Amino acid sequence: MKPAPFVYHAAADVEEVLDLLAELGTEAKILAGGQSLVPVLNMRLAGPEHLVDINRVPGLDAITVTDDAVRVGALVRHADLLASAEARDALPLLGQALRWVAHPVIRNRGTTVGSLVHADPAGEMPAILALTGGSVVLRSRRGERTVPAEEFFVGPMESCVLADELAVEAVFGRFPAGTRTAFSEIARRHGDYAMAGVGLAVRTDGPDGPVQDARAGFVSLTEVPAVLDLTPVLEGAVAADLPGLAEAVTEAVGSFVDPVDDIHATADYRRHLAAVQTNRLLAGLLAGETTTTTTEETSA
Ligand SMILES: Cc1cc2nc3c(=O)[nH]c(=O)nc-3n(C[C@H](O)[C@H](O)[C@H](O)COP(=O)(O)OP(=O)(O)OC[C@H]3O[C@@H](n4cnc5c(N)ncnc54)[C@H](O)[C@@H]3O)c2cc1C
Repeated sequence: MKPAPFVYHAAADVEEVLDLLAELGTEAKILAGGQSLVPVLNMRLAGPEHLVDINRVPGLDAITVTDDAVRVGALVRHADLLASAEARDALPLLGQALRWVAHPVIRNRGTTVGSLVHADPAGEMPAILALTGGSVVLRSRRGERTVPAEEFFVGPMESCVLADELAVEAVFGRFPAGTRTAFSEIARRHGDYAMAGVGLAVRTDGPDGPVQDARAGFVSLTEVPAVLDLTPVLEGAVAADLPGLAEAVTEAVGSFVDPVDDIHATADYRRHLAAVQTNRLLAGLLAGETTTTTTEETSA
């Protein structure tokens, strides 16, 4: 199928984008990588009268690492972020999760910020934004606001971005020193959307020391990205304690996630995959199998 007719605007700069959005309101949609929007238009699930293409807008393609965050501009493609050694070193969870986003051709074009705005519960990056305690910076003619992940995602495929707003930047939080992260997902074929995915961040007191803090984020398992605090179950545990805690972890994960049945998997199977992956990731992390999140520890 082909999309319904629309007026195409190739915006030259951010000011022009904001003017167009202010003028056109709900009649317009931003076109970033087009990897989600174009299929939606082709299937005629949406029919905006105007498309505002931001691909020629300068200043939106920066990846900036600060002491406490990795900031990702609206035109940073998934592939650019995955290729950034500085970003991966500052926040290894980004690289661990991005390699699961679709296929290379889609990552070459699709933007990480577009993926957040699209807010697919099966998307990896919304879960990572939530797990890192991140936020999204939105700009309009009315001003700028920074929305934390827990307020940004308001429903399946629904973020809080208003019709006149441009998402200019995603801010992924960096973890405190001593935090290790890992990510895993299970799909029918590599590159497909996950039946179930889990990201984990665990802080220990020294490389073999007890758990101080543990959090999990989920893909295709909750309506909107949500973070499970596993600290009450795991605090003080070391690797040798994990077999005895597996049932409690399974119980905590199983009662937290809220998957649905579809043609790919039943809700019960997804719940089972969530718990199995969480226990496996925990065992790997406490056995020191994956990278730590701080430059100091990675290079130690
Ligand atoms: C075959 C296939 C497989 C895929 N598999 C996966 C997968 O496994 N995991 C995954 O996470 N994703 C997957 N995707 C989606 C992909 O990650 C997209 O790149 C991403 O969802 C959207 O980014 P985009 O830049 O293409 O946005 P677009 O398609 O251009 O836009 C998506 C939506 O966000 C809005 N938007 C985009 N940018 C902005 C902005 N800066 N400000 C305001 N609104 C904005 C648009 O108006 C539109 O409503 C897949 C896509 C395809 C086609």
